[in-house]
Amino acid sequence: MDTIFAKIISREVPADIMYETDQVVAFRDINPQAPVHVLVVPKKWVKGIESATSEDDLQSLLLAAAEVARIEGVERSGYRLVINSGQHGGQTVDHLHVHVLGGRPMAWPPG
Ligand code: AMP
Repeated sequence: MDTIFAKIISREVPADIMYETDQVVAFRDINPQAPVHVLVVPKKWVKGIESATSEDDLQSLLLAAAEVARIEGVERSGYRLVINSGQHGGQTVDHLHVHVLGGRPMAWPPG
């Protein structure tokens, strides 16, 4: 499916890509909610976590998110990984992605 993230992966739309593997692309969120706010996106389209299957490489996605936190220097201070799913989850782009948020304390529960 041709979402904005597909266009970022194919370089049709520019983004601040800060990490990439054969499986994922990671780029800075255009509307950051924390000093560190990076989106980690699988290159293979999956609509969301609710439709992911064991065929999808979720391990690479999560390990890449942890690597992004390391690169951004928030591993020791701590950070949050978020996957929004569907309307109540606040998902606005139908291409699975992990938010890596850090650089400030995070509130719990989320609003
Ligand atoms: P979600 O609401 O979980 O689907 O997250 C989608 C995220 O994508 C939001 O935080 C947006 O700010 C972000 N976003 C949308 N378009 C772009 C873009 N062109 N470049 C970077 N981030 C984007």
